[in-house]
Amino acid sequence: MITGALEQRIHILPESVINQIAAGEVVLRPASVIKELGENAIDAEAFSISIWTEQGGKKRIQVTDDGIGMSPIDAELCFERHATSKISSAKDLSRLLTKGFRGEALASIAAVAEVELFTRRPQDKIGTHVQIAFGKKLLVEPTRCAPGTTLIVQKLFHKLPVRRKSLRSDATEHRHNLQEFFRLAYPHPERLFRFYHNDTLLYDLPPTSPLNRILALHPELRTEDLVSVEDTTPFFSAQGFLVLPEATPPQNREGFLFINRRYIRHAGLQQSIYQVYKPLLREEQRPLYWLFLEIDPAQIDINITPSKTEVCLLHEMEVRAMLQSIVRRILAVARLALPTDWIEKSTAKLPPPPSAPPPPSQPNSSTILPLPNPTGRELPDYLLLFGRFLVLRRAGEVWLLDLFGAHQRILYERYVQGIPVSPQGLLFPVHASVTPIQAAHLTELIPALERAGLRIEIREGREAVLHSVPAGLSPAAALPVLQEILRLAEALPPDWRERIAQHMARHSVARPPYPLSPEAVEALWQDLQRCAQPEYSPTGRRIRFLLTEEALERLFQ
Ligand code: ADP
Ligand code: MG
Repeated sequence: MITGALEQRIHILPESVINQIAAGEVVLRPASVIKELGENAIDAEAFSISIWTEQGGKKRIQVTDDGIGMSPIDAELCFERHATSKISSAKDLSRLLTKGFRGEALASIAAVAEVELFTRRPQDKIGTHVQIAFGKKLLVEPTRCAPGTTLIVQKLFHKLPVRRKSLRSDATEHRHNLQEFFRLAYPHPERLFRFYHNDTLLYDLPPTSPLNRILALHPELRTEDLVSVEDTTPFFSAQGFLVLPEATPPQNREGFLFINRRYIRHAGLQQSIYQVYKPLLREEQRPLYWLFLEIDPAQIDINITPSKTEVCLLHEMEVRAMLQSIVRRILAVARLALPTDWIEKSTAKLPPPPSAPPPPSQPNSSTILPLPNPTGRELPDYLLLFGRFLVLRRAGEVWLLDLFGAHQRILYERYVQGIPVSPQGLLFPVHASVTPIQAAHLTELIPALERAGLRIEIREGREAVLHSVPAGLSPAAALPVLQEILRLAEALPPDWRERIAQHMARHSVARPPYPLSPEAVEALWQDLQRCAQPEYSPTGRRIRFLLTEEALERLFQ
């Protein structure tokens, strides 16, 4: 879309809205500048965000993004107080999906430092350069610059000697800067982040999965130290990772909590998690985790402090109780190495009353259910072995079945036949750049992929975004599946459907252990019977054996 250079997205908030927004200082130290400019870059849909700092940010901070940029008129407006493109009425506060909304950050920064802005919208030929120092606009001129936005902040607090003096050593400010950088990078693994200090590239974080982003920022952790969280409750959905108590760093002081991808502090929620860990940690230790909660924006209020790192939850007690039960279950499973299907699902349970007794010092054994006896008769119709093989009686025959292969086969045939599969939205949509050829082919595939639960969007003809995967596919497979689709979109071979199906089947979440109810076993068997090839998985593995007397005899010989 080509739009006029005078187009204006930013407007000044009306007084009535301003009065509902938490007032206060947002710029306390260089790290505040990094937080605000980084958030603006994310709100501007940047794919890559680079940050440079000098002398702990006291001398210079630069943030460059490749986002939507600003029109000349917005480039001037953005430094006004209460100037924002993100909300326009008080109602918008209850459906916030952007990080910013107060329209104060750039105004506050420009009031206490020398600021330079270079910005260009991708659809414009010429960009805008604005210079503003300690609240005074010095220069506005057209300029040639890359699409996106660069903000340079120098001489922070130079005209406020007391504030300047309250800053700590370069090394300490640098530590604060990195802390803010990490808090931006954890919940946005789909974007590229770079951090330079005094011209040394310290972090180069390409787009990746949430887990790999954490590992890239914490080389001291190993994959085995983490257990993943994935759960949905009536009040929120949770994804993330817990560090096992045994692997928690000795000095750890903080776990990381995010709501709708915003880093937040919430003493109540953090306390609930700590209670589960407490008996398993040393006295001075705190648990380490990354929990990404998605909560309906209407049920939270982040507008209580200017830095927006604190929230009020409408259903705080319920959220706390459910989160606690999720964490307790996952830790109990991981520590006892029991299959999850033997453990009560937290979502099926109502939250305990707020006065519930503190957790016992051992993993709660009452949450572990006995081996199911599905029929109530003495001889069950099926038996689960090692969490992945099923012995099944059907019409006088006894079958031995590999659950993983069976699941793969069923999913594969569904994808190939184009049977609609329900999508499962990704908390972290994955991005990849596309060539014009790929974009053109992809456009043809989109309806078929959508039926298979894969919702793909092409942005500006140069980027593909995968928003959902079929239910049952691990979110971790999203990126490899998108990459496979793009590989196929290159040449569009006639068997593209089979090849994508095979790829997805290979990445399906159907790894043992399975939640197995008698109904699930029956459905699985029926689905398998309907398959064109029920004996072999799409990767060529045997799925089932008929256990005849002769077959058993052979085994014993
Ligand atoms: P807020 O983020 O609360 O809206 P800011 O003062 O941080 O307030 O920014 C003001 C406005 O400037 C934003 O609403 C946005 O329209 C624009 N803006 C700021 N940074 C960027 C950026 N990196 N890219 C594009 N637009 C930006
Ligand atoms: Mg902002």
